[in-house]
Amino acid sequence: MKPFELKTSTPEETMEFSKRLGQLLQAGDVLTLEGDLGAGKTTFTKGLAKGLDIAKTVNSPTFTIIKEYRGRLPLYHMDVYRVEDSFEDLGFDEYFDGEGVTVVEWAHLIQEQLPKELLEIQLFHGEEDSRRIQMMPHGKRYEELCKEIFQ
Ligand code: ADP
Ligand code: MG
Repeated sequence: MKPFELKTSTPEETMEFSKRLGQLLQAGDVLTLEGDLGAGKTTFTKGLAKGLDIAKTVNSPTFTIIKEYRGRLPLYHMDVYRVEDSFEDLGFDEYFDGEGVTVVEWAHLIQEQLPKELLEIQLFHGEEDSRRIQMMPHGKRYEELCKEIFQ
């Protein structure tokens, strides 16, 4: 399957898109975010949070690895950039199998611990403020989700 793809020209546009995605998310959904520093992973998560009716501002959880926010569903926001040992078990499963939505920045660093089914999202820098957002669904749930948002 080819990845679903869109381009945005501003951070607001990225958040507008991820907000729409956030509105469609369900308990147990897992999304991974990959891309260079500044590509927009946290910006994307901010929009998702809006779509989950989270009032608090989402910030980069770099120093805490996992931050939890309350909304329509809980959001578990992980940034595993500083996880040193990819096999170190920080109890990720409890989040992946939990009542909320999990978003993992730099997810490849804990590749071995990720669930099989998830929505893989990659962000690429373009000229100036443009970003290319690629979404690759792994599993039926995420294929349906991508079809719905890109229809
Ligand atoms: P990451 O979490 O990937 O390191 P951030 O979301 O923290 O990235 O930072 C992305 C930066 O790029 C922010 O300052 C954001 O305002 C800016 N930006 C510019 N254009 C865009 C865009 N089209 N989409 C997302 N972010 C953008
Ligand atoms: Mg970030």
